[in-house]
Amino acid sequence: MNVKDSEHIVAELLDEFTPTQNPKEADLIIINTCSVREKPVAKLFSELGALHKENPKARFGVCGCTASHMGEEIIKKAPYVSFVLGARNVSRIKEVVNKEKAVITDIDYDDTTYIFKNIHKNPYKDFVNIMVGCDKNCTFCIVPKTRGRELSIPMDLILKQVENLASEGVKEITLLGQNVNNYGKRFSIPHPKVDFTDLLREVSKIDGIERIRFTSPHPLHAEDKFLDEFANNPKICKHIHFPLQSGSTKILKSMKRGYSKEWFLNRAEIIRQIPDVAISTDIIVGFPGESEEDFKETLEVIKKVRFEQIFSFVYSPRPLTQAATFKNQVPKEIAKKRLYTLQELHSKILDEISQNQIGKTYKVLVEEEGMGKSDNFFTVKFKKDKSLLGKIIDVKIKDANKHTLYGEVI
Ligand code: SF4
Repeated sequence: MNVKDSEHIVAELLDEFTPTQNPKEADLIIINTCSVREKPVAKLFSELGALHKENPKARFGVCGCTASHMGEEIIKKAPYVSFVLGARNVSRIKEVVNKEKAVITDIDYDDTTYIFKNIHKNPYKDFVNIMVGCDKNCTFCIVPKTRGRELSIPMDLILKQVENLASEGVKEITLLGQNVNNYGKRFSIPHPKVDFTDLLREVSKIDGIERIRFTSPHPLHAEDKFLDEFANNPKICKHIHFPLQSGSTKILKSMKRGYSKEWFLNRAEIIRQIPDVAISTDIIVGFPGESEEDFKETLEVIKKVRFEQIFSFVYSPRPLTQAATFKNQVPKEIAKKRLYTLQELHSKILDEISQNQIGKTYKVLVEEEGMGKSDNFFTVKFKKDKSLLGKIIDVKIKDANKHTLYGEVI
């Protein structure tokens, strides 16, 4: 989402500014921030300091989730920052870009009908926002406080955007939202009743779009209708990001995730029946109150589901979240040890998964010379050939390591 927001910011400013790769010659430097964990927030100020030292004449702006929750505090901490623009206010960049000490952090702002100018760095694939905000309030997560409540973007605007991208040669799109499979719950304008499956069906009718991805679906809304469409629509890539967070129902309850370990396993089992499907996930270890037993349950789920990719983190208390006030915080050392155990286990599983790919043939969208992504999101490398750029080709896998498959174009 931040990548797409950054592209929108750049696109909005293109009639006034020309992008440069060299911060030293920039008149304007904008940092688009994340705040989902503590580290990126600390990094913002070290990065700002370093860039300001390198180019003291530049104007500075801070956008994104850290901008939303810190607001003018950012300007107090770094007085050379000229403006602060929240994650929910990207379409208002022109209102602040030439002002001094301007702060817009309105998380109720509605820009779901705003039509952004579009730029896409990769000519063959692009992201398309389908909703903003989140209503879930998971106890560890700051996103509802930085991106506001959930609103879906009207379906005709999404379809128009996808049609435009297809006419520019884009073949693969990724539908973006905090809970994509809750699409259609609420619009800011009168709108016919639709859900995410309806949207997937309509998007897949657009000529030129050959691949559809989406991120992230919420396990709570992984109903049969949606999973059937995922399994049977040939344009939908067979990779799903399915954020587990914890394998213990007790911890899931305390996280307010809305599903149990059993529900997650049941949904994952259905997904696993799809040939060559890949499942990735997010896991937090050391959430307040997580016992050794709870942690073992997470390991058990990993062994059962055998995720192709895991983004795992030690729990990081975030401001404005309920979990940060929980008394039973897990000591950092224990959490770090658990993270190591989890990653060791997954590394072994990943070795097996990678080796199992040898001999298979995958459809690969060639994104760079000699490299692309398989339908199920493996990185695949093969002999460089410029003429293959942007094509979807068959590659037979000959070798593999944890992160990359190597093959021959057939
Ligand atoms: S679903 Fe939960 S984790 Fe995801 S953005 Fe919403 S509150 Fe955060």
